[in-house]
Amino acid sequence: MTDAPKPKPHPNDLLKQKMATATLVRKEIFAGGRLGTFVIRPDSGARWWYQAGQYTTLGLDTPYGFVPRAYSIAGSPLDGDLEFYIALVEGGQLTPTIFAQEPGAQFRMLTAKGKFTFAHAAKRTILMVCTGTGLAPFVAQIRTLWKLHQAGIPSTYRLVLFHGAAHVDELGYRSELEGYAKTPGFDLTYITTSSRPDPARGWTDATGAGRVNELFRHVIGAPVPHGRRVAMPAGLDAEAVRALIDPAQTAVMACGNPGMIEDIKEPIAHAGITTYLVEEFWKA
Ligand SMILES: Cc1cc2nc3c(=O)[nH]c(=O)nc-3n(C[C@H](O)[C@H](O)[C@H](O)COP(=O)(O)OP(=O)(O)OC[C@H]3O[C@@H](n4cnc5c(N)ncnc54)[C@H](O)[C@@H]3O)c2cc1C
Repeated sequence: MTDAPKPKPHPNDLLKQKMATATLVRKEIFAGGRLGTFVIRPDSGARWWYQAGQYTTLGLDTPYGFVPRAYSIAGSPLDGDLEFYIALVEGGQLTPTIFAQEPGAQFRMLTAKGKFTFAHAAKRTILMVCTGTGLAPFVAQIRTLWKLHQAGIPSTYRLVLFHGAAHVDELGYRSELEGYAKTPGFDLTYITTSSRPDPARGWTDATGAGRVNELFRHVIGAPVPHGRRVAMPAGLDAEAVRALIDPAQTAVMACGNPGMIEDIKEPIAHAGITTYLVEEFWKA
């Protein structure tokens, strides 16, 4: 009698064996449970070096087996621990399990990779456009430059950040970024917008109105689709922001929803900006 062939291990289980372990040290959930920041510490005790803007792969055992997914690192490499900004996807394979973890839980992770960095954009002015948790790689990069600025190493970048979400409570990292934008000598213009501006949900004119891709179109002087309303946040003027942009010295970086990323592609080229870096969080 011959032995029955052993079942082949699932590729995700093979991947799991290659991944380092890390422990959740802090978790903050907001926006009615739909968004969270998660800070993990590699168990090796070694410092994990990465470039701000890169992503890693996190994995956990879930009801679907071991599930790995890519996540941009939202924390700065100067922070020490690794911070992530994650949206709960209802019915998703991994995120419900991530959100259920408490400090002390063990994650699996891979070393960081990716070229979605200011260094790869290689221009003086960086226009950052993001939806939801697509903000993560930009927080990493802006926080890093701000920390260096505070340490007496000035940034040579001119930064303009457009962050869009459905509702204002989904504009994560807002107070941190507002603080950076007010720092003397730190050249950051921070533009928030709500695609469903509803005063009953806390919207005021301190936040812009309209989808972030449409507000971005408005700012760079491209047509906004007929019938769509966009408004800049109070105190910020689209023409004044446009005046900051020299196309030859400007790169656009967009992250998050693939529809947003596609929609601004043509207007960017039309504006004469030739460097466009993208990080899609899922396929259209
Ligand atoms: C390079 C890269 C970096 C990423 N970084 C982040 C990050 O920093 N934060 C983050 O929240 N996600 C990020 N993602 C998305 C992440 O990898 C997962 O796809 C997401 O967390 C859903 O996993 P899931 O297993 O729960 O859902 P799945 O069962 O895999 O369902 C996937 C579906 O969920 C939806 N979805 C995926 N991501 C999001 C999202 N962020 N917001 C709303 N809907 C979404 C899409 O419809 C997608 O088809 C990144 C993806 C890539 C490729």
